Amino acid sequence: MSGEATDAGYAIEIRERYQDVFRDRWPVSIDPKPDELLSSWLHRLAIANGLAPRSFAGVLGRGDGMWSPRLDLRLLPHVAAQLSEQTGVPHEAISALAMTGCALTPLLLPLREKADRNRSTWMQYCPRCFADDEVPYFRSCWRLATRISCFVHGRGLRDRCPACRSGVAAFDQGELVPQHFCARCGFDLRRASKVFVKAPARRLERSIDDICRVEMAKGSTTIGDLTSRLLRAPIIAGVSLGKTLTNLSTSSRIRCFEWLADKHVSWLTEDEDDAVARRRRLVLAAGGHDRLIAHFADFMDKHQASPRSVRSPSTGADLAALLEAYSRATDGGSERSVPVFLRPRADKIVKFRR
Ligand SMILES: [Zn+2]
Ligand SMILES: [Zn+2]
Repeated sequence: MSGEATDAGYAIEIRERYQDVFRDRWPVSIDPKPDELLSSWLHRLAIANGLAPRSFAGVLGRGDGMWSPRLDLRLLPHVAAQLSEQTGVPHEAISALAMTGCALTPLLLPLREKADRNRSTWMQYCPRCFADDEVPYFRSCWRLATRISCFVHGRGLRDRCPACRSGVAAFDQGELVPQHFCARCGFDLRRASKVFVKAPARRLERSIDDICRVEMAKGSTTIGDLTSRLLRAPIIAGVSLGKTLTNLSTSSRIRCFEWLADKHVSWLTEDEDDAVARRRRLVLAAGGHDRLIAHFADFMDKHQASPRSVRSPSTGADLAALLEAYSRATDGGSERSVPVFLRPRADKIVKFRR
């Protein structure tokens, strides 16, 4: 192995013979973390094996630049097979880390190496999650433009290094430095200050996340309509000078959600099929999955045999079934049958324009 000590750490040369030396298995295998993104696991795997992420690209036969974020979007079968053989991690587990063919692909932040002012970068992070992690890693959900805060810590996500304003560039890290240190200036991202996001905006974010999960779980044909409405949200909010959601920095998207949070939800429901619009309104009005389940359980306690099991469904499929049961229980789906606490506010109307 060849490594040259410098003041900044170890400058690692690409080992062209790495594959020859470790023909069957790489020395160290690591398990993916919950909701970890493929590129994050690859960067950790590289460092665990004594290679900087930039050099590891060569081991996998990848080129320069955003080699690992590109694999997130399209994991080539032969690369997946190589990773599985060399690490012993099952093929399916590796494929599950990539976002290949995800129905929410239009909502992913575009791959951009440069972090121009006010524009999106490709990746977000929560400094508190990094601080709590035994080994800091990037979550798949942070790639979505619809995500502006951390559901665990209730704080805003960040999309830049607060010290040098660069976007996350762990794919280009040339030294043996973990990915929670900025690849451009070395700042420890765990030390980034808190970002405040108003509670109504976080409720809207949570509701949108639930609606996406429900419509994906149902294999709904409306998912394309949903993503195009979400992409246009900043244009409706008037905060973007015509830019769509995926092109805005996290701070601009936080402003967008804060503006939309106390407006009527017609921008997400107007002109949509009755059942779909009703389902979206229910989730939006309740402020998300957990609150809707609590309301529903209370409603059933009062009106029917007590279905305690509805208090803890956790998947989109469960939520879809719950909403259907709720619609049946509340008498055929007319607007009048929606209890007061779930009715949308009609005082401020925002029209969804095509
Ligand atoms: Zn967090
Ligand atoms: Zn930096």
